Amino acid sequence: MYKIMTPGPTQVKENVRLARARECTNPDLDEAFIEFYRETCQLISRLLHTENETLILGGEGILGLEAACASLTEPGDRVLVLDNGVFGKGFADFVSLYGGVPRLYTVNNKKPIDPQCLQAFLEKDHNYKYATLVHCDTPSGVLNDIGVLCPLLSQYGILTVVDSVSGMFGEEVRVDDAQIDILCGGSQKAVSAPPGLTFVTISGRARQAMAERKTPIASFYANLGVFENYYEEKWFPYTMPISDIYGLRAALENIAGDTDMLARHAKIGGACRKALTDAGLQLHLESGFSNTVTVFDVPEGVSAREILQRMKEEHEILIAGSLGGLDGQVIRIGHMGSNANEADMKETMKALDAVLRNMGVSLKKHIGERFCHYLENNPG
Ligand SMILES: *Cc1c(COP(=O)(O)O)cnc(C)c1O
Repeated sequence: MYKIMTPGPTQVKENVRLARARECTNPDLDEAFIEFYRETCQLISRLLHTENETLILGGEGILGLEAACASLTEPGDRVLVLDNGVFGKGFADFVSLYGGVPRLYTVNNKKPIDPQCLQAFLEKDHNYKYATLVHCDTPSGVLNDIGVLCPLLSQYGILTVVDSVSGMFGEEVRVDDAQIDILCGGSQKAVSAPPGLTFVTISGRARQAMAERKTPIASFYANLGVFENYYEEKWFPYTMPISDIYGLRAALENIAGDTDMLARHAKIGGACRKALTDAGLQLHLESGFSNTVTVFDVPEGVSAREILQRMKEEHEILIAGSLGGLDGQVIRIGHMGSNANEADMKETMKALDAVLRNMGVSLKKHIGERFCHYLENNPG
């Protein structure tokens, strides 16, 4: 069995796996399941600090992103796509697919989006139905300050769609304070349930925008409107993946009972970054480090593939490469959700040190030793 230290999917705790083995019912006919579904949605809303309704959709993370765009976009709508990473840019495809006109706002991929620069841009051009942005853009690990960016967009009358699939629960998300209209999450990142589910929180303004459409939503599966009145009518638009939802509920309850989850992510993320830089490795980003994932440049003269392979074969630890233009350029350590525990991170840091040295990389300090040092000396 490998130790999973990737930025999703993450480790799944035993109580989550066992919850998925619960006896099944017919989710359409058993009213107890409809209650269970709604309570699980309410728990998500509470954990994300919002009064907005949450819906759990039967599909993995990407479905939430597509459903948000499908439900809001009408042909010809101008949509502002904030892009400082792979997922950020990717929203443009969903907007186009549903007939919208994406306007890419592309900035330096090694830093978070600067609210002042965005404001200067919006001063001149703010005629957009909605904007899309990513909280933690996982391929680079850049963390955007949604708590500042979303209220700014909102001030200009622009609805916001936020992908926090790999940010939420490792980084703070306060949906109502940030005035986020549709927030997208997934089961397999910091939530630490298996892949397979996405969930979205939907504001009153987003609902109104959907209700005021002149054209029907050009999808069924990615249409958030089909859940309208599911509770009153005791009817789901399609059969809910009941075992997945039992597992998700257990994972969310783990989070609800974990009072220092954010502090632990901050402590581990900080120690990881410092240990790598002390050893002489180069973090990929200039600023805006998410505490859910650490991304460093592949040292000169060695290959990303060999680092990953040796971690796997010699230490039975899975860490990740990246995607898009970063493929082969960087290594990613996912310390989110259940992965964010000191014991597994210590082992990972120690193994990485051994692997790099065996490959002939000269390190200034011992990565594992420095990591332990910072855990002990920098509590948060
Ligand atoms: C993982 C992830 C998703 C969901 O995509 P997958 O196909 O499940 O990997 C969406 N957005 C971000 C930022 C993610 O990290």
